[in-house]
Amino acid sequence: MHPILKKALKVVAGLLILITLPYYYTTIFDFDKPEKFTGNQFYNPYENLGDKWLKCNFHSHSQLLGGLTNGDNSVQEMHDKYRKLEYDLPCITNYSSINKDYFDKKYPLNAYEHGINKKWTHQIVLNTAEPKPFDYPFFQLTSHKQFILDRLKTEDNLIILAHPSFVDSYEAEEMTYLGSYDLMEGITVRATSIKHWDAVLAAGRAIWVVASDDSHDTATAHVGVTWTDVNVTDQSKAGVLESLRKGRHVAQRSWYGQHTTFVKSVSVTDNVYKLKITEPVDSIVLISDNGKRVAFETDANKITYKVKAENSYIRAELFHSTEWIDYSRLYLNPVIRTTDSTVFSRPLEHHINWFQTILYIIAVLLFHAALAAIVLKW
Ligand SMILES: [Zn+2]
Repeated sequence: MHPILKKALKVVAGLLILITLPYYYTTIFDFDKPEKFTGNQFYNPYENLGDKWLKCNFHSHSQLLGGLTNGDNSVQEMHDKYRKLEYDLPCITNYSSINKDYFDKKYPLNAYEHGINKKWTHQIVLNTAEPKPFDYPFFQLTSHKQFILDRLKTEDNLIILAHPSFVDSYEAEEMTYLGSYDLMEGITVRATSIKHWDAVLAAGRAIWVVASDDSHDTATAHVGVTWTDVNVTDQSKAGVLESLRKGRHVAQRSWYGQHTTFVKSVSVTDNVYKLKITEPVDSIVLISDNGKRVAFETDANKITYKVKAENSYIRAELFHSTEWIDYSRLYLNPVIRTTDSTVFSRPLEHHINWFQTILYIIAVLLFHAALAAIVLKW
């Protein structure tokens, strides 16, 4: 072999050892099996609605590290754009960095995007003082993803899985096992993950949906397209977080931050689901387990449905088209079966599998030993 090629291979082998060092920090977990929502009562996230809806975006980027991370505009330019579109809460969520320059101090919600890896397995961390570094740069087993989520999760913050269907960064099935996350991005400008969401809900996991632009510049096609309206009774930061925790919000896709309609009321009485909205829309579709359509109305501002025994949850999607947007779509969080209507959260446990963890670390050691042999002995 040519000496230059040999030298290059040695450099690559050495680098490979360095960048795979994080894999020594691996814990393999056994996951408890999720179970469908059951019970004769329903948890309704829209019970006791307040009269204020806040327009929020929980995922956007400004210029960072001289444009290295894909952000084209300054924090000020991003904020100005969102302010023009009348957002109440536009979060700038740069990679592993928190931006504290808010254009108004009403909702100082510190947030950032976590994750530097090949598969775009990212998390949005809402309400945190400092970013926590560390990631597995290449492949991630479900256990790796769980380890990161456990590291990021605290009692005060909210974790959103970012764009799960984007290059399959999260498999729908593994999302039914994973713990330590609260919400998921069902829609962003670049990915729609509603199938993932239905799989998670059908498995009995009360994970709420949000929509975010994931904007990297102020272009009209990237800003004000997908956002979350959060209903609050208390307009403080704590009030926003509380509503997100309870699912009292609506994810939507439209154009230029323009609203289509608002939820007036959702109720479930004697197994009858009733939804009323402020403005009529082209269609209202009710969806149950694994995305099954169970009812619809057209040109309507309300819908009623007698919930069947096999429906473990019911959620609504609204569609509308006007001359200024060919379609807008709203996703309501579901009402879910429960034995006690106030309780929706049943955290799923995972436990360390020591045997497999040790085997895994031995495998990494052997891999590194082979690479070291190339570097040193060859
Ligand atoms: Zn992002």
